[in-house]
Amino acid sequence: MGRARMTWIGTSWKMNKTLAEARAFVDGLVAARSALDGVRAFVIPAHTAIAAVRERLPADVPVLIGAQNAHWEPAGAYTGEVSMGMIADVGATLVEIGHSERRQHFGETDETVALKVAAAVAAGLTPLLCVGEPAGVRAAGGETDWVAGQVSRGLSRLATPDLHKVVVAYEPVWAIGDLGREAQPYEIAPVMEMLSARFRPAAVLYGGSVNRRNAAALLGVPGTDGLFVGRAAWDVAEFIELVRIAACACHEGRADAR
Ligand code: PEP
Repeated sequence: MGRARMTWIGTSWKMNKTLAEARAFVDGLVAARSALDGVRAFVIPAHTAIAAVRERLPADVPVLIGAQNAHWEPAGAYTGEVSMGMIADVGATLVEIGHSERRQHFGETDETVALKVAAAVAAGLTPLLCVGEPAGVRAAGGETDWVAGQVSRGLSRLATPDLHKVVVAYEPVWAIGDLGREAQPYEIAPVMEMLSARFRPAAVLYGGSVNRRNAAALLGVPGTDGLFVGRAAWDVAEFIELVRIAACACHEGRADAR
């Protein structure tokens, strides 16, 4: 059976890339334009580069643009913040919410995440709700309950009919970034299964040390609608390689998800 939905494949640049670097990445996307058909690709620049990416990206190149964070209030005395409406205004259609780095370094809580998810939907944006357990919770075998709780609380201010407007990214904290350990398909399978069973029709992505070597196997985990990639996709050629892997149906059912 083929996938019912297009595979998502996207990257957040975190606090990286000048305007020149952002534009060069877009030029690489345009050069590989034909590879982008058949996937739901997205790029999430730093706030400073969103408008430049939007302006550089031709309208017929199918890549969604996101923001890495935005405040839940529409306007006001919130120095240093930007609103959902502001990021929509500069061309984002997606907004990352609750990444573990924001939870760890910037005091993001399930309550602020819930406020932001609701504000994003109200502003017509797609919230990309990031969840994932720390290493200690995984060691104790509590990951499925932990992640289910994070998603339930993150969606608590949203009406159920709006679930199809949400994308959930499962990103175990121990698998993310330079110190992260690559997850094996069997390690993430129970959580992906729980997410797709409980929170459909939200799309469910996996993220954490994804790269061209492990992407196909991770995409083969049942319930996985796509991948959210950091470091391995910051070079546009590598991003396009991941796009090609995501576009290929050959990963279906291949992973050993036991
Ligand atoms: C992330 O931080 O969301 C992420 C997936 O990073 P990386 O792929 O670099 O582990």
